[in-house]
Amino acid sequence: MSAILKAPLTVEFPFTRSLGPIQSAFLTGLRERVILGVRTGDGRTLVPPVEYDPVTAEEIRELVEVAPTGTVTTWAWNHAPRRGQPLATPFAWVLVKLDGADTGLLHALDASGPDAVRTGMRVRVRWAEERSGAITDIACFEPYGGEAAEAEPEGHSGEFDDPITGIVAPARLDYTYSPGRAQTGYINALVERRAVGERCPACRKVYVPPRGACPTCGVATAEQVEVGPGGTVTTFCIVNIKAAHTANLDIEVPYVYGHIALDGADLALHGRIAGIPYDQVRMGLRVEPVWTEGARYPDHYRPTGEPDAEYDTFKELT
Ligand SMILES: [Zn+2]
Repeated sequence: MSAILKAPLTVEFPFTRSLGPIQSAFLTGLRERVILGVRTGDGRTLVPPVEYDPVTAEEIRELVEVAPTGTVTTWAWNHAPRRGQPLATPFAWVLVKLDGADTGLLHALDASGPDAVRTGMRVRVRWAEERSGAITDIACFEPYGGEAAEAEPEGHSGEFDDPITGIVAPARLDYTYSPGRAQTGYINALVERRAVGERCPACRKVYVPPRGACPTCGVATAEQVEVGPGGTVTTFCIVNIKAAHTANLDIEVPYVYGHIALDGADLALHGRIAGIPYDQVRMGLRVEPVWTEGARYPDHYRPTGEPDAEYDTFKELT
């Protein structure tokens, strides 16, 4: 039994959103070193601002400016900052009630250690040197010796030259993925360009790729079974949307993605179908894998030229 595989996996995409008038004013204000909140119908000041009153659900339009100083209302020490966090050295996550605000703004506090942080401490904004209209325009908070200002939030038009109307927020998850025992066997076999599934000891179905258990019977699978290399297209779709930002999926549209039941498997896997005009792909088409040099899985499947499979032979294999 070979070692269980594991590898780093990163899932990331840029999330583009438009801001609307309130968030636009808030982020543009940060660029200009102005912190804006909103005033609700009952006179509370919310920072960061929201578009709708969280109590009454009424739309909020009144913008007010609050002070760049405030009080820590709660905090947590971050021992090991991760990529993309506000500070590269250990810091405190803090909720800061800015002078003039009634709610807390979540941000980072630059402090020498957890002993230097306490609820109730006074802090002020440290502005980023280069500001673009983002929450990161506040580089962090820092301890501040000054007294709590009796700040009454001042009305603000929210109007700026060249307002920020949209942002791109990159979303990223990076973690270590282990496929487990069964898929490790599957992946190791792919290195030798073989497809290996596992058979359920109860219903005798062969799962490819194997997940280690039969989802129908609820029992572990262990018996390895080699399947393929040929297979039958059980269903398919025509893809008309080009994959953007993905270096290894640079395929001209339209192309066909299908479910392929490899010979001997009781479950279809999916793969791209090529080597045939996209509008001639059909259920029952017999295909075989096409490998490219150095690849770890088939690049696509192409027709073998055999007669189509009878529907009854694959109708259960979706
Ligand atoms: Zn089973």
